[in-house]
Amino acid sequence: MSYKGDNLMSVKRTNRSAALRALHEKGAMSRKRLAESMNLTPAAITKIVAEMIHDGLLSEGEMLSSGGAGRREILIGINAKKACGLGVLINLRQAILSATWLDGSVIFAEEIPLEANAASEETAKLLSRRLLELIEENEIPREQVIGLGIAVRGITSADGRTVRNSFGALAETDYPLCALFEELTGFHCVMENNVRSLLAAQMFLSRDENEGSQFFLRCGHGIGAALSIDGKIWHGVTAQCAEIGHIPVIRRGGKPCHCGKSGCLETIASPGAIREEAISGLSAEGTPLLWRAFQDRDPKEMRVFDVLTAASNGDAGASAIVDQAIQALGMAIKALIYLVDPGKIILYGSLFEDPYYLSRLSSELQEGVDLRHDVAIEKSQYNLQLEDKAACLLAVQDFMENGGIQE
Ligand SMILES: [Zn+2]
Repeated sequence: MSYKGDNLMSVKRTNRSAALRALHEKGAMSRKRLAESMNLTPAAITKIVAEMIHDGLLSEGEMLSSGGAGRREILIGINAKKACGLGVLINLRQAILSATWLDGSVIFAEEIPLEANAASEETAKLLSRRLLELIEENEIPREQVIGLGIAVRGITSADGRTVRNSFGALAETDYPLCALFEELTGFHCVMENNVRSLLAAQMFLSRDENEGSQFFLRCGHGIGAALSIDGKIWHGVTAQCAEIGHIPVIRRGGKPCHCGKSGCLETIASPGAIREEAISGLSAEGTPLLWRAFQDRDPKEMRVFDVLTAASNGDAGASAIVDQAIQALGMAIKALIYLVDPGKIILYGSLFEDPYYLSRLSSELQEGVDLRHDVAIEKSQYNLQLEDKAACLLAVQDFMENGGIQE
């Protein structure tokens, strides 16, 4: 229980932050409407807005006729190009360096290949050096940068300072990556797990549609997820909330998982697992269509989409592999539906661009869930577009939460 009081500075931050949030989510509006939506007096809003216009964060835009006696009101909006957030997204064997304006529009994005189990210090040095070059190449003055967001695969500590385990992306465990990036770049840094940063970006860009609870499922090579409850992303005590990919589903004799355990959901239900299962079971009798497709090709070239195509064309063996994966994933999601009762399940990843997979998963998720659970299951409207933005938006959201005041 916290008994902290609020001093004047923190009241100022809170009010400025609420104004930024309201203007971001609802768009430009008059001082009068802003005062109403924040439940503050017009005098208080006039003062807050004047300060933020002075800082360059807000600007006055078009006139709006208010309807009464020919009075006209001026719209106030966020000056999105006043500042930019930088981002480093670290996945397995790949990093993305990027920058966005305050509204999430991308200034630059560059992909950097990494080795698996890359040494953390050397990787941070390489990425920082290139990021500083990109800022210069794009003529972004340092004072315009509000901070650096770092999104990393795996488990990050609850305080967002340490990478506990990046599951094969970086070699070290319990590594203070956030402090190292601060030292190397000189920018204020915030760090988060990569999937949670994707959900944060999804929520930021979808503006005011985040009231209820949302479960965000990302299928890349593996299975990642994040959960928001009442508009806030939930971390859990050890910052591993919603790690459904590592639910143990096979007690003995399961395949090893990169998390160090074996028999995790990811080892049977992920796109990587579907692919591996199809390669090892490839035969003329068992998977005839796949067999024909790979008659003159190395089976190692097989992608999950080859398996899905064969399954959708009636290959019984391929269908069985896909169904087994979908049923296992479906069980985990249905358990979550009964546990959390989310309003929405958002699907993210290239797998969900495949109509066969998407329809199979959707029907699996309907089965056995009664109508009292009115959960919308939909592909993200930003599917495959958030990787360039997610890390930068960590910095942007941190800046907004701080009322647009840089330390
Ligand atoms: Zn695992």
